[in-house]
Amino acid sequence: MSNKLAWVDEELQALKDAGLYNRIRTLGSPQGAWLVVDGKKVLNFCSNNYLGLANHPRIAAAAKAAIDQMGVGPGAVRSIAGTMDLHVQLDERLARFKGVDAAITFQSGFTANLGTIPALVGKEDAIFSDELNHASIIDGSRLSGATIIRYNHADPAHLEAQLKEHRQQYRRAMVITDGVFSMDGDIAPLDKIYEVTQKYDVVLMVDDAHGEGVMGKGGRGIVDHFGLNGKVDIEIGTLSKAFGVVGGVAAGDAKVVEWLHQRGRPFLFSSAMTVPDVAACLAAVDLLEESTELVDRLWSNANLFKKELLAMGFDTGKSVTPITPVILGEAPLAQEFSRALYEEGVFGMALGFPTVPRGTARIRVMISAAHSESDLEQGLAAFETVGKKLGVI
Ligand SMILES: *Cc1c(COP(=O)(O)O)cnc(C)c1O
Repeated sequence: MSNKLAWVDEELQALKDAGLYNRIRTLGSPQGAWLVVDGKKVLNFCSNNYLGLANHPRIAAAAKAAIDQMGVGPGAVRSIAGTMDLHVQLDERLARFKGVDAAITFQSGFTANLGTIPALVGKEDAIFSDELNHASIIDGSRLSGATIIRYNHADPAHLEAQLKEHRQQYRRAMVITDGVFSMDGDIAPLDKIYEVTQKYDVVLMVDDAHGEGVMGKGGRGIVDHFGLNGKVDIEIGTLSKAFGVVGGVAAGDAKVVEWLHQRGRPFLFSSAMTVPDVAACLAAVDLLEESTELVDRLWSNANLFKKELLAMGFDTGKSVTPITPVILGEAPLAQEFSRALYEEGVFGMALGFPTVPRGTARIRVMISAAHSESDLEQGLAAFETVGKKLGVI
């Protein structure tokens, strides 16, 4: 036997030695405020299930009813024979929810970026990209073949300097930014970024994966939060976070969506979302349109949790969203903190370099509308106990 894959063992060992190996936990329960993790019941601060929809009875019922009527699999890619009337309904409902002309759904937020960016720019073009943009934006940008010009995180003045210096060397150009940044819970200054883009011939795209169902009126997203409705050229979203299901979306100008029907490669070459997924997403839109109750509870939970952490003396960094980093310092401390929380019955993920800059390792707390007040109190008590034990507060 040749040893041509021996390098994989070496690389895996190197990851383990560096403390960067991902040990994947297995859940033995549905998503919710509490999880069974590796056999133990723990309070969940790790999911993107912002509104508690991942196991909501109405959403589960909608998925079951759709299976009874339409089966499960789409049978094909959407452009051949995989577009059912449910898919068309979801595209239309998402466009209406976002207050834009049109929308097109993909299998995930990741594929929405991989499909949309290369359809809009190519080798002769440039992408101006926030340095902390999500991996799927980076991969979509690389796939497009366009020149990628990074600007400093959330810095419209630096974006403008980059546009001034480079824009005219390229045929077409896009500015792409996350709406909410997932490691710090800070947001893009989209109003200022929009103003800058108005002075240059450049398309503006925002990926609002962590803003959908969270920011803006009733969860309509970061564009709505800044009152920029109808002004941002393309919004990318995911149906896997606040919407609680799975899927991705690109929303905006009708002609861009029409173009993505013709040139969005994951739309053309990868099968459509399944029937229960689409039906569940439609039920999620219904819930969001009927009431702002869940979004309001998410924010009151997040505000309470953050206020109490700060009062205890923890550092929550730049967060202005329900993503609450508890910044601790070096990675081993964050890992020890996470282990100690688990002992206290709390599931909180430690993130260290290279996911976040050195010296800013943290526990990232994801608050949800599914948490009750007593859940939050238990969580806070655990943070206080562990914080004192480890000398952080
Ligand atoms: C989570 C995330 C995605 C990926 O979404 P999926 O639907 O899980 O593929 C894309 N962009 C950003 C900014 C994200 O946070």
